Amino acid sequence: MKISPIPLAVRTTCAYCGVGCGVQATPQADGSIGVKGDPAHPANNGKLCVKGSALGETLGLEGRLLHPQVREDGAMRRASWDEALERVARGFSDIIAEHGPGSVALYVSGQLLTEDYYVANKLMKGYIGTANIDTNSRLCMSSSVAGHKRAFGADIVPGCYEDFDLADMVVLTGSNAAWCHPVLFQRIARLKERRPEVMVVVIDPRRTATCELADLHLPVKPGTDVWLFNGLLSFLAREGAMDAPYIDGRTTGLAEALAVANADCADPMEVVRICRVEPAKLLAFYRAFAATAKVVTAYSQGVNQSSAGTDKVNSIINCHLATGRIGRPGMGPFSLTGQPNAMGGREVGGMANMLAAHMDLDKPEHRDLVQGFWNSPRIADKPGLKAVDLFHAIEAGKVKAVWIIGTNPMVSLPDANQVQRALEKCELVVASEIMASTDTTAFADVLLPALGWGEKDGTVTNSERCISRQRAFLPAPGEARADWKILCQVAQRMGFDGFEFGAPHEIFDEHARLSSWRNGADEGGVKRAFKLEGLAGLGAHDYDTLDPVQWPVLRGPGGAAVGTARIDCGGKFVATAPRGPVHAASAEYPLALNTGRVRDQWHTMTRTGKAPRLAGHVPESFVDLHPHDALLYGVREGELARVSSAWGSMVARVQLGGGITRGSVFVPIHWNGQTASDARVGALVSPAVDPVSGEPEFKHTPVMVEHFGVS
Ligand code: SF4
Repeated sequence: MKISPIPLAVRTTCAYCGVGCGVQATPQADGSIGVKGDPAHPANNGKLCVKGSALGETLGLEGRLLHPQVREDGAMRRASWDEALERVARGFSDIIAEHGPGSVALYVSGQLLTEDYYVANKLMKGYIGTANIDTNSRLCMSSSVAGHKRAFGADIVPGCYEDFDLADMVVLTGSNAAWCHPVLFQRIARLKERRPEVMVVVIDPRRTATCELADLHLPVKPGTDVWLFNGLLSFLAREGAMDAPYIDGRTTGLAEALAVANADCADPMEVVRICRVEPAKLLAFYRAFAATAKVVTAYSQGVNQSSAGTDKVNSIINCHLATGRIGRPGMGPFSLTGQPNAMGGREVGGMANMLAAHMDLDKPEHRDLVQGFWNSPRIADKPGLKAVDLFHAIEAGKVKAVWIIGTNPMVSLPDANQVQRALEKCELVVASEIMASTDTTAFADVLLPALGWGEKDGTVTNSERCISRQRAFLPAPGEARADWKILCQVAQRMGFDGFEFGAPHEIFDEHARLSSWRNGADEGGVKRAFKLEGLAGLGAHDYDTLDPVQWPVLRGPGGAAVGTARIDCGGKFVATAPRGPVHAASAEYPLALNTGRVRDQWHTMTRTGKAPRLAGHVPESFVDLHPHDALLYGVREGELARVSSAWGSMVARVQLGGGITRGSVFVPIHWNGQTASDARVGALVSPAVDPVSGEPEFKHTPVMVEHFGVS
C-alpha cells in the first residue's frame, strides 16, 4: 500500500495587523496552501480572524512583479538585476555626489521584516549619512512612540496581551478592535463571557462593531480626547484615587500635568460640554476608572492619527501613572499597533528620528555607540524628514531620489495628489514591490521585484513586544529577491563594506548584538531598556526554530533566552494642554471626515483584494453619514456622492446609519485609484500633522458631501 506523506506545516506569523497571530501554513496536494491558527503561539492560541484565515487565497502569482524593470524613453521595459541594481546604485551615488546625502531618501513599510528594516537603516544612517528614511508606520503609531518616549524615556509598551485576561475593566479608546484587531477583540469577548462583571468602555465618535461588547459607550466629539482624559486626571486627584506612594517613588511631573488638567477640565460639566457626552455616562466612566484597580486602556489610530496625537497618548498614560497602573498584571496603557512589524521597525531605528536598538539620534553618545559598532564611515547626526515632510521636500526639489519599499504612498499618504506631484517631479523613483501595477509603481523609474509573505524569511514584533518568525514556505516567484538582499546589493555597488550578509539570521544576530553592545568598558552613560542579549549569537538552526519571545530578552540559566512579559518602568507625567484639530469645519466644508479600516480589507488591498470571499463583506468604498446630514446635504442611501475637501475629492456610495454622529462622515482607507472611479480617500485628507510625532490627522478633515449620481 502506498502511503501519502503527511504534509508538514510551516509555523509563521500573519501578514496583517499588529496582533501578530501565529499561523500554520501547510502545502496541499493540489498546490494550494492550507492556513490555520498556530495553537502554540501566545498571541492567538490557534485563533485567526477572517483576514488571517484567507491568507492562503492571496498567494497566487497573478499581477505579481516577477522581473526587474527600468524606464527607457518614457516606458518601462524588462531589465536584468545587474542593470536595475546598477541604475539604483549609480543614480543614488551621482545625486549624493552632486547634492549631498540629504538629497536622497528611503520610504519603507511596517510590512517589512526586522532584518529588511535593519539593513535599510544601516545603509542610510551609517553609510549614506542621512536620516532621510521614514516609514508608513509614521501614519499609524508614531504618536504612541513619541508619547512613550516622553513618558517612559524610551519607546516601551509596558504591558502584554495577558493583561486583557486579568483586567477588571478594559477601556478601548480610538480603537475599533472588533474589525482592526479581531483576535485581541475575541480575547476581550472571552473575558466578558468568563467574567461578565468586567466592565468594557468604548470611547469612539462612531458606534462601531466594538461597541457590541461595551457596557458603556462614550461617543465623544472627534478630537476631544485630551479634554476627556485631563478631566479624568483631575477627577482622580479630587476623589483621592491616586496612588501617592507610586507617584512619589516612581514618577515625576505630576504637579505641572495636574495644573494644566485642572485649568480646563476640573469641572466635569465643562468636559461634558466640550466632549458632547452625557453627564451620567462621563461620571460613570470616571467613577469606574477611579474604583477599579485592574484597568487596561488600549488605544489605536483614533488616538494616534491626530494633530494632537502625542498629547492624547500622554493624557492616557498620565491617568495610569497617577494610579500606579503600569507594568503590573491586568493593568496599563496599551498601544495597539496597526501593522505586522511596526514594532520591529522601531527596534532597528526604522523612523527618521531614531537610531537602531532604540537609541536616540540626538544623543552624541548613542550615535558614537552605533557608529562604533557598525564601524561605519559616518553617522547621521540630525533627524531626517518625516513622511509628509519628505514628499513635500521631493516636490520642492530638495530630495531628488526616493526608494519606496513595500508601500503605496499614492493611496495611503494624506494629500495624495501632492504625492503624485512629488513623484512626477522626482529625478529618480525606485520601487521595491510584490505587485507589478499599483498607483505608486506607475511613477517608478526602476521597479524591483520583492518577495512577499510566505516567500520571505525573518522576524516581526507584535504589539506586546513579542518577536516571532515569519518563515518561507513557497519558492521565490520569477526573479523576486528578499528586500534585505536587494538593499545589500545596492549598498555594495555603492562601494560600502558592512553588507556582506548571507542570510537573515546573520542580520538578526548583528541586530541582537548591537542591542546589548557596550562601547568599551561601559555604555558611556547610555541607558537602554531594549535588549536582546539572550538572542545574540543565534546560529542558523536556532534562528530557524526560534519560538516567540518578548523583549527585553536576557540570558537565563544554561544560556536560555528569557523574555519579559511586563516592564515596570515608572514614568514622567506630561502636561497636555488640550487643543482641537488644525482645520475646523467651515461653511464651505461643514462635515468632519474620519477614515479607517473595514473588517476584511487591509491597507490598499494589494493582497486582500485577491481573495473573493473578503470582498463580500464590503464590496466597494462608501461614505457613511448620519441620516439627518444626508437629508441636509441632499444625498440618499445607495446613491453616489462626491466628497470634497480643500485638498481633493472622490466619489463613493452613500451609506446611512453606520453608527456615526451628526457632523461627521466616515470613508474607508483601502480603495485605490485603480477602481472605476478614483476612490483614494487619501486625496482628501488634510496634510496637517502632530508637531511632535509627525503623524497626520487622518481622523479630522473638513469636507462637503453632495449628490453625484445614482449608478
Ligand atoms: Fe492576522 Fe490580525 Fe487577524 Fe491575527 S487578528 S489573524 S494578526 S489580521
